[in-house]
Amino acid sequence: MPKPKCNDYTGLTLMNDEQLLRYSRHIFLPEIDIAGQEKLLSSTVLLVGLGGLGSPIALYLAASGVGRLLLTDREKVELSNLQRQIIHSSNSLDEMKTTSAARALHALNPDIKLDLIDDLTAENLDKYVALADCVVDGSDNFTTRFVINRACVKARVPLVSGAAIQFNGQLCVFDFKHDPTPCYQCLYPDDIAQENRCQDSGVIAPLVGVIGSLQALEAIKLLLGMRMKSQLLQFDARALGFRSSKIVPDPKCSVCTDQC
Ligand SMILES: [Zn+2]
Repeated sequence: MPKPKCNDYTGLTLMNDEQLLRYSRHIFLPEIDIAGQEKLLSSTVLLVGLGGLGSPIALYLAASGVGRLLLTDREKVELSNLQRQIIHSSNSLDEMKTTSAARALHALNPDIKLDLIDDLTAENLDKYVALADCVVDGSDNFTTRFVINRACVKARVPLVSGAAIQFNGQLCVFDFKHDPTPCYQCLYPDDIAQENRCQDSGVIAPLVGVIGSLQALEAIKLLLGMRMKSQLLQFDARALGFRSSKIVPDPKCSVCTDQC
């Protein structure tokens, strides 16, 4: 593979030589090139949750040069997290996850700006969603996912939602900029009874890496304007199988019926 000729780009980009080299494997891709990388550098992503899913999401978005990450988590790092939450380390125990993650991300890529949000609530969520070009949900419960989905539908900000439990993973992508678009709530009834969380049911560690990495991939594609269709991807880690399906809008959905 040829080395990037940084000097050739002088005058065509605001990126300096170090950035051109750092992001050269993106710039080689015709789908990204310099214009796409500059788009990523000027993008803002709201990342909800810095746990098992949030770890690879944050690491890949930071490494990819997404210019500003709004990092949210209200919890501290616990020993039982370290089996799968790879952005944190044994040195981070009892530290806020936002602080621990920020240290790892700055070490990886000092280029990017990080906003640490330790107090995300349903009340202040709209404010942060409005700042974002894309929201990536790495939370671990339906209540939070529903609230985030509602805020994204309202603000028409694209959403990448992920979940992982035991040996099963799921990825949903919604580009609310485009009509008609179903939403996360279309997949589930309002009164979903059973709440499975990995703290109760367990999760095989690399599964969150698979789903979180896919979430980062889809977020980058959304930021680059490469993706528009809503999609559900299910992953069976035991059988090593993916199943992709179209998400059908629920005409009775209480969240997106006005938009669909
Ligand atoms: Zn809906």
